Amino acid sequence: MKNITILGSTGSVGRATLKVLDKNPGKFRVFALSAKSNVEVLYEQCLRHEPKYAAMLDEKAAQKLRDRLAQVGSSTEVLTGDASLQVIASSSDSDYIMAAIVGAAGLLPTLAAVKSGKRVLLANKESLVMGGQVFMQAVRECHAELIPIDSEHNAIFQCLPHHGGHSVHRILLTASGGPFRGWSHERQHSVTPAQACAHPRWSMGRKISVDSATLMNKGLEVIEARWLFEVPPGRIEVVVHPQSIVHSLVEYIDGSVLAQLSNPDMRVPIASGLAWPERISTGVQPLDLCSLGHLDFEPPDMKSFPCLPLAIQAAETGGNMPVVLNAANEIAVQSFLDGLLPFTSISDVVGQTLDMMPGSTPDSIDEILECDRKARAIAKTVISRAAA
Ligand code: NAD
Ligand code: MG
Repeated sequence: MKNITILGSTGSVGRATLKVLDKNPGKFRVFALSAKSNVEVLYEQCLRHEPKYAAMLDEKAAQKLRDRLAQVGSSTEVLTGDASLQVIASSSDSDYIMAAIVGAAGLLPTLAAVKSGKRVLLANKESLVMGGQVFMQAVRECHAELIPIDSEHNAIFQCLPHHGGHSVHRILLTASGGPFRGWSHERQHSVTPAQACAHPRWSMGRKISVDSATLMNKGLEVIEARWLFEVPPGRIEVVVHPQSIVHSLVEYIDGSVLAQLSNPDMRVPIASGLAWPERISTGVQPLDLCSLGHLDFEPPDMKSFPCLPLAIQAAETGGNMPVVLNAANEIAVQSFLDGLLPFTSISDVVGQTLDMMPGSTPDSIDEILECDRKARAIAKTVISRAAA
């Protein structure tokens, strides 16, 4: 029986994780759950899974949850505030931590989980994009077992040689192409948040859905892969594969290419990470290759989706550039979702913020967070200047 903490349990990955646990009774116990402010969903999750702790970032929401749980005599203890996430992430009573908070907010809790030397199931890609070297150094020093949950990275993890060695030539990172594949940049100008969040293959949170529509998500994933697998960005190739069946591939020096395939459903990588190196059931439909008929592959359209080359450039430059890219993107995506920025301006805001921010090499978490704050301020200025 493994004790599990889920950071971001009310989100898309968090809920999919609980579904996998439901499918495997007797193997896992929920130790702690957490959310930003969604009382309704966290309350239902607490009743069903009876965690020892439930942490909510928002204090008012935490009080509401506490009151409701008290009314039904629940023994779950409700914690609140930033620090509470780090407390549940690093508790010695937990065996596995699912890091499924969205955005930079996940950095400190995910790092706390890594520093506790546990198995960390990493969905929160932004923490690795920001933390890079510092994050991976903590993984090594604290003997954490980092298992990628992002579907592409989980596929690569499954295809890599587990005896080590230097026989990998390239990593082929697949991308669905998002809802606007084949659209020119001009045609994307009037895209609405509802259109951008309607992904053709995956049902996900709003931020990652927009990132998938701009292809920034694939750029963040190049940076994520660079750190997870210690492969220089020049040896990571993005391939558009609209069916999202082949989740990524590893090419070896002898010309062999290994791939992991499944129907597009996050329960597959989540179950793989939970059970690794064993396998558990997920409830996901088996793959029917004959009814699929064909699998298509094409190069990404860098001109119509400028976020992807911006991210690849930031990966190649390194230093603080991935931190700036991520911060500017989070601000721009939120402005777009709030109806304050056209879809095609997301890449403009990111590009201008990267140009305006002086290069540096942050080598501590405090320096990374300082760089994140500065880049957010610049991105907000860029947006307000454009609106004036
Ligand atoms: P989501 O928006 O559906 O859920 C986010 C979760 O984080 C929620 O539980 C929310 O309460 C919590 N949260 C948000 N802001 C917070 C804050 N400031 N402090 C504490 N908690 C906060 O997002 P998602 O789609 O589940 O994605 C989560 C992460 O997983 C992202 O980093 C995303 O890139 C990555 N990911 C998601 C998918 C997917 O299929 N959804 C696939 C691959 C990777
Ligand atoms: Mg992915």
